[in-house]
Amino acid sequence: MGRIIAIANQKGGVGKTTTAINLAACLAEAGKKILAIDLDPQGNMTSGLGVDKNEVENTVYQLMLDECTIKESMVHTVVDNLELIASNVNLAGAEIELLGIADKEYILKNAVDYIKEDYDFIIIDCPPSLNMLTVNAMTTANTVLVPIQCEYYALEGLSQLIHTINLVQERLNPELDIEGIVFTMYDVRTNLSNQVVANVKENLDAKIYQTMIPRNIRLAEAPSYGIPINMYDTKSAGAESYRNLAKEVIERKDI
Ligand code: ADP
Ligand code: MG
Repeated sequence: MGRIIAIANQKGGVGKTTTAINLAACLAEAGKKILAIDLDPQGNMTSGLGVDKNEVENTVYQLMLDECTIKESMVHTVVDNLELIASNVNLAGAEIELLGIADKEYILKNAVDYIKEDYDFIIIDCPPSLNMLTVNAMTTANTVLVPIQCEYYALEGLSQLIHTINLVQERLNPELDIEGIVFTMYDVRTNLSNQVVANVKENLDAKIYQTMIPRNIRLAEAPSYGIPINMYDTKSAGAESYRNLAKEVIERKDI
């Protein structure tokens, strides 16, 4: 069986969606069968994979409210081997609508259970908060991959994230593990980047991926064309780094 990876960090702008899109695309490029799930009402993963978020009939919102089946919620993307469950702003209201529902922490998991055997990896892009959507992602996932931006406040909020992962592990999903930490927007030339990396290594008992994602303008440009980095600029430093990350993720067998 494959692995379900939630990409989470309650901080916004740290590279979750960029990592979710490009890791998923590079895993697909390596021949793996991938399902991407956009759990952020901003729908940036959806548009970054070339899907018009306002034209999709069934999104993760309809799926979670039981208005469609999981198969009906999937759409094709511009990437071979990569299917998507899309998201848009409708999802912003889902938390309240889920309030009265029994087992609301398991809604996504119960749906994904039907199809998970069909995929090598399922990549879930989480919203920038530790809300019920993120809890649903962590309940569904085998592992949580945490992107950390190499900036001064990198460690702020990290203990809260680890605490949430531990709580989900204790109460909802005993199998949940930390996939690893990936540093994003890394700049070898700055002392700050190196300090952040050293600091995280000191403070966190988690696997840290050798691949560091550099700050690369091509990574920021690709979403406006609705294609992942390996299709937008296949030889860019950004594409190379996400290919390397995909390789490390595939080779990780100790889970
Ligand atoms: P999050 O999903 O955590 O909010 P995003 O992936 O949307 O973060 O990234 C925030 C912004 O930074 C976006 O505009 C994105 O294009 C840009 N960005 C992300 N990673 C990189 C990178 N490695 N190099 C340059 N820009 C990046
Ligand atoms: Mg995002």
